[in-house]
Amino acid sequence: MADLLIRNVRPLGGELTDILVRDGTIVSIAPGLPASPNGQSIDGHGDLLLPGLIEGHAHLDKTQWGAPWYRNAVGPTRLDRIENERNWRGASGHDAASRSLALARAYLSNGTTRMRTHADIDTDIGLRHVHATMQTRAALADTIDMQIVAFPQSGLTCRPGTEALMDAALREGADIVGGIDPCAIERDPVRSLDALFALASRHSKPLDIHLHEPGEMGAFSLDLILERTASLGLQGKVVISHGFCLGAIAERDRDALLARMARLDVSIATTAPASSPVPLLAVCRAAGVTLFGGNDGIRDTWTPYARPDMLDRAMHIGLRNALRRDDELAWALESVTDDAARGCGFAAYGLGVGCRADLVLLKAETVAEAVAATPPRSLVVAGGVVVTA
Ligand SMILES: [Zn+2]
Repeated sequence: MADLLIRNVRPLGGELTDILVRDGTIVSIAPGLPASPNGQSIDGHGDLLLPGLIEGHAHLDKTQWGAPWYRNAVGPTRLDRIENERNWRGASGHDAASRSLALARAYLSNGTTRMRTHADIDTDIGLRHVHATMQTRAALADTIDMQIVAFPQSGLTCRPGTEALMDAALREGADIVGGIDPCAIERDPVRSLDALFALASRHSKPLDIHLHEPGEMGAFSLDLILERTASLGLQGKVVISHGFCLGAIAERDRDALLARMARLDVSIATTAPASSPVPLLAVCRAAGVTLFGGNDGIRDTWTPYARPDMLDRAMHIGLRNALRRDDELAWALESVTDDAARGCGFAAYGLGVGCRADLVLLKAETVAEAVAATPPRSLVVAGGVVVTA
């Protein structure tokens, strides 16, 4: 791979400098770097430089991105949506491979270079969606660093046969053990969480558990999750997705749970929806708990909303958390950059020498303006590869 020199950029809105990329890695950052013979040189025109954006919670396999509009007439509960999706998949011939590839490419063109995506596993589709997502990961391996979560959307122990499928998915290359509402969906929290953590131990994989359960119910499930995280020594290996309960319970109980999460380095993924109580960014930061951003589904049978643009998600996180000051908007950006890298465990991340060359340029004066205005990307480099220029 020829050297790539990007001149006249402002990392996070700082002073003008140049960045030299060699073999997919940032090797030098300084003003006035000489161009390498035979290397490629790009003028950044003084644009703001961000590190590659990170999608911390996606469902690429569910999307209808690029397909005709899905007419949503689904019932109001989460179980309605789960059952509707299973029936629709059976009837529609949904092609998770081509749809997930189309959506991942759209993410990439907007500067997302790392991604954690949950792939459905159930006794109807078996491993079809896991294989489709793996196909997309392989097709984009030069540019997107993708983690795949084996996700039992319809439940693990409440649907006999799912555990064996999860086992097979993890053997075949899924990176993370996914889980879902131990009380509300599984209806047997101790048994289902024991099975889930046994899978993680057997395969030495981290966990990422969807926890939508409200208030006290969610807090009870979270308590059981933290108990197992501690007893199995899984510090830094567990993510709670959504964790709506942390936005609903009494502050004293919330703070006690957050203190345990901080000690166990358990992170939270959030979409920061306007329609649910959510763990608040400022509260989590003060407690020392990593909270990072994700879109969840985009244009699927669950939701007509969201865009494959992590700056757009950062803006929604800012809105939901009532962030106004420039230093607070920088937190919103961190939730889709550094905090997401830490929560998901992506290595060699950032704008330093030695980091993977994931670079995003856009026209904005400051990070705060980038979050609030979400301008189009003028350049995206992923793993040293120029994706859009
Ligand atoms: Zn999800």
